[in-house]
Amino acid sequence: MPGKSVQKISDPFVRETFKALNSLYDNSVGGINYPGDNGLRKGNVLTDFVDGQFSDILVTIGSSDPETGTRSFGDPSLVDNPHIEFDTRLGIIIPNYKKQSKGALSPRSLLLHEFAHVWLWTAEPNKTARAHKAYFPEGLKPFGNDPEEEDVLKFVERPSTSRLGEGIRLYYQDGFKDNLFFRTSGPTKNK
Ligand SMILES: [Zn+2]
Repeated sequence: MPGKSVQKISDPFVRETFKALNSLYDNSVGGINYPGDNGLRKGNVLTDFVDGQFSDILVTIGSSDPETGTRSFGDPSLVDNPHIEFDTRLGIIIPNYKKQSKGALSPRSLLLHEFAHVWLWTAEPNKTARAHKAYFPEGLKPFGNDPEEEDVLKFVERPSTSRLGEGIRLYYQDGFKDNLFFRTSGPTKNK
């Protein structure tokens, strides 16, 4: 983590991505206690790839095409090295629905969400593959959660966005289909 030197990074994408990563790190989010196939697995979805249990795994973060949004590919059947496509200004609206309160998530929280996918595929590939196969075959149901997404929300995203003072997403939705994405004023902002 580059700390103070982040302002000197000339490439805007790299600089803004480091702002997001530093903010997540400084707020001590990303911790996970996950019930794996052989008992509880403890870790941190960010730092395990830097100096933790998965420091031998290369996670590449690239700038996303605005048409595709922030997303990740951790499925080992699809790629050798997991990668994330990140949009440093993409936030998502959380609509009012049942027990879910209206709110919004910052780009940093969407980045952490993608790291959670990569962590699950790395730590528990078999369990994650089962959850992935159980995705809703007709596409994402409105206000229902795909099993892999529910694990990401439950074990990483909700505790993190609660600590960061952002919205809390109870229901996973397709941001494009439901027109929930918006441009934020910065990588750590949810406005
Ligand atoms: Zn996801």
